[in-house]
Amino acid sequence: MSTQAPDPDFRAMLRTAIDEARAGLAEGGIPIGAALYRADGTLLGRGRNRRVQDDDPSVHGETDAFRKAGRQRSYRDTIMVTTLSPCWYCSGLVRQFGIGTVVMGESVNFSGGHEWLRANGVRVVDLADPECISMMGDWISANPLLWNEDIGVD
Ligand SMILES: [Zn+2]
Repeated sequence: MSTQAPDPDFRAMLRTAIDEARAGLAEGGIPIGAALYRADGTLLGRGRNRRVQDDDPSVHGETDAFRKAGRQRSYRDTIMVTTLSPCWYCSGLVRQFGIGTVVMGESVNFSGGHEWLRANGVRVVDLADPECISMMGDWISANPLLWNEDIGVD
């Protein structure tokens, strides 16, 4: 008999991150959203990239959700859900705090540190979600300069 609990509904969790990304898009921002959940499905925090809105390049979807979650005693049983493969900065956050699972909406438009996370024992689930792929792809096509700024490409 397995002691492994069944997976929570990752697609329902992704919905929260997509809603955040769409809110960012409506604000004129970069449409990347995230949410931090407990393995039992409890939402701890949600957020979105606010580089444009706050003139702050350090506010990524993941860091925003992480900060909104406040202090947690342990992150091993938490799940970072994000609309896009996490960049190196956010992948570093996952490693630093020992977040056990990363669920990403897609890794087609951008591939950050998710293979590195996987190689270091983090469970990584790629949902290859069509809505995430088209939302980000359309936005990048329309905003190439802003996108290059966000991913640090000169
Ligand atoms: Zn990031």
